[in-house]
Amino acid sequence: MATVSLKTLQKIYPNGFQAVHGADIEIADGEFIVLVGPSGCGKSTLLRMIAGLEEITSGDLLIGDRQVNDLDPADRDIAMVFQNYALYPHMTVYNNMAYGLRNRKISKENIDKSVREAASLLNLAEYLDRRPSQLSGGQRQRVAMGRAIVREPALFLFDEPLSNLDAKLRNQMRIEIRKLQRQLGTTSIYVTHDQVEAMTMADRIVVLNAGNIEQIGTPDEIYHRPASVFVASFMGAPAMNMMEGKLASGGIEIEGVGLLKSDHKLDANSNVSVGVRPEKVKLTTKANGITQPFIHDFTEELGAARLVHGRLGNKPFVVNLHQEDEVPQGELYATLSPDTLHIFDTETGKRLR
Ligand code: ATP
Repeated sequence: MATVSLKTLQKIYPNGFQAVHGADIEIADGEFIVLVGPSGCGKSTLLRMIAGLEEITSGDLLIGDRQVNDLDPADRDIAMVFQNYALYPHMTVYNNMAYGLRNRKISKENIDKSVREAASLLNLAEYLDRRPSQLSGGQRQRVAMGRAIVREPALFLFDEPLSNLDAKLRNQMRIEIRKLQRQLGTTSIYVTHDQVEAMTMADRIVVLNAGNIEQIGTPDEIYHRPASVFVASFMGAPAMNMMEGKLASGGIEIEGVGLLKSDHKLDANSNVSVGVRPEKVKLTTKANGITQPFIHDFTEELGAARLVHGRLGNKPFVVNLHQEDEVPQGELYATLSPDTLHIFDTETGKRLR
């Protein structure tokens, strides 16, 4: 049982580089939190500070109600699962899982019970005598999970644990990890640069950008009400279409396009960035008050959906159609319904509406 509090946590590396600028995150007991962001945004640094592998420059880190800033990793009651699994190659699966318990004054019987329970939970019972080299990537990842589970920690930390697996196995393992975590109820912090992993696994997502927290929210909030242009563009595949314009009465004047109708109640004249998700756009051959001419370049068939790539006002623009919706023939217009527009301040990048 553990809550985790990050209070204005900062990291400045010895060379003077500030990798984390005052992170504030409150994590509830049993919550699955995903830290996501592009390479170099500081997610590993943050996780390593929580693990005790990286010194905290300033701020407070609490696990439960204990301040752990200066505690050794071994005393923080955490278990970490790494990308490279960090298994001992010369030890069997059994010994890899038992290793962390042996220097803890736990009886042989109890160690055996814990290892066998975890192995059965992870479908590893028949592999206990093998060495890591005799296992598939997915099985190795499960052993790494097993080693974390047997310790019964207050907190699981995951550092891109699925990066080395192929796409299919990754999908399978992310469901397995999530199921297991729900079953065990252990508070978890999971680092990934993969926004799909973040969306599908998290109770709440923390989006990081250049050492700053851009937004903390449920996958639904992050996707449907992104707090900034950065979040809007980073989360979602294909990415949100972004256009530059100026607020006007009754709409937004988009460069090279014209007036886009919008029901915003914002002061006119500010420069804004307008976003619209590709799946919120319809294609039609009939112009009306909320359509804009769309030049069709090519279509990508994805099976369940089709991505229609083209241009709006000579800027790239993507429409994501359901597989049953054919691309209409002839001169095309994109239907941009006012209620689907995300409006951001161009200067600050922050959401206005
Ligand atoms: P990735 O997904 O590529 O692992 P990340 O978001 O996990 O990226 P971090 O590894 O936390 O990013 O690094 C954040 C920033 O801190 C990067 O700009 C990195 O170059 C810098 N950094 C990391 N370690 C050190 C160090 N020991 N000394 C100086 N700068 C560092």
